[in-house]
Amino acid sequence: MPQTCSVCKHSRLDEINAALVAGGTLWNIAEKFLLTMSSLYRHKQHMPAGLIKAKEAKEVAKADTLLEQVCSLRDMAIDILRQAEKDGDLRTALLGVKEARACLELLAKLQGELSQADIVNVLIAPQWLSLRTVILRELESYPEAKVRLAEALKKYAEH
Ligand SMILES: [Zn+2]
Repeated sequence: MPQTCSVCKHSRLDEINAALVAGGTLWNIAEKFLLTMSSLYRHKQHMPAGLIKAKEAKEVAKADTLLEQVCSLRDMAIDILRQAEKDGDLRTALLGVKEARACLELLAKLQGELSQADIVNVLIAPQWLSLRTVILRELESYPEAKVRLAEALKKYAEH
């Protein structure tokens, strides 16, 4: 690390690094910390690689959280379907189907947003395939709901 770097010697180095990692523009960061853009640019070239890696790890963690949220929605959909089966309530069963569809939409959206290198294809993941089996089995007593769900699944599989 060159000793001439005014950013490295800056008393708020951590904040500056954080702003750079967060993707702030050099212009804004330079203005905020009273630095020149060229010194920031030079500093960026020798910034510790670990900081940039940390940002990547954060992105993956964010993806995990999204998948977790979809999973809890999925669990909710199954709960609704189970309850509806118990009560013999077609209206609630249809709500369960709607919820399952929303889960599919989220999964499809996540697939689009996440890097294919890091995330498995959730729609062909074993967990999803077994969930689909559970939902269709739960819906045995509701032919209309089952047909609707099957149609929705087909629609997404074709995408
Ligand atoms: Zn530096």
